[in-house]
Amino acid sequence: MFDHILYPTDFSDVSMKAMSYVKQLKDAGAKKVTVLHVIDDRTLVVPDVFSGIDFMAVENELRRIADEECNKIVEQLRESGLEAWFKIEKGVPFREIIRVAKEDDVSLIVIGSHGKSNIEEMLLGSVSEKVIRKAVRPVLVVKR
Ligand code: ATP
Ligand code: MN
Repeated sequence: MFDHILYPTDFSDVSMKAMSYVKQLKDAGAKKVTVLHVIDDRTLVVPDVFSGIDFMAVENELRRIADEECNKIVEQLRESGLEAWFKIEKGVPFREIIRVAKEDDVSLIVIGSHGKSNIEEMLLGSVSEKVIRKAVRPVLVVKR
């Protein structure tokens, strides 16, 4: 039933907790996992001339770190006996998550209720809220 899982991650503690559920879903028939990290391009919009920050260098470093983290995750999932690969996309996180869910025709999305911000008063993070709203596939939300 949940043959192909989309696992979007921001590498936060909550999303790592969600990964333990991805592994356990093997017992429920899961076979393939697409790991997805989105580099939020809204954090890369200030023109270099105003900030003095080299955004190209920032993006390259973010990609390098994401690559490393995704490789570790994929390795762990493979050790659990799942087929796994990763995608790193640049854009607005919830949009890319919805787009890849369609592109890969996944049967389930597994996300954390919260991510890096993990604000105490929030019932859900903004990414998980929008994914739940827009997804046409089942979503498993793992609570913090
Ligand atoms: P907010 O971002 O609204 O301040 P938050 O960081 O606590 O709040 P979300 O960003 O909604 O919460 O994170 C919820 C879940 O969404 C994460 O556990 C992760 O599964 C997924 N997620 C969040 N950001 C990304 C991202 N950039 N790429 C892939 N998945 C993400
Ligand atoms: Mn977030």
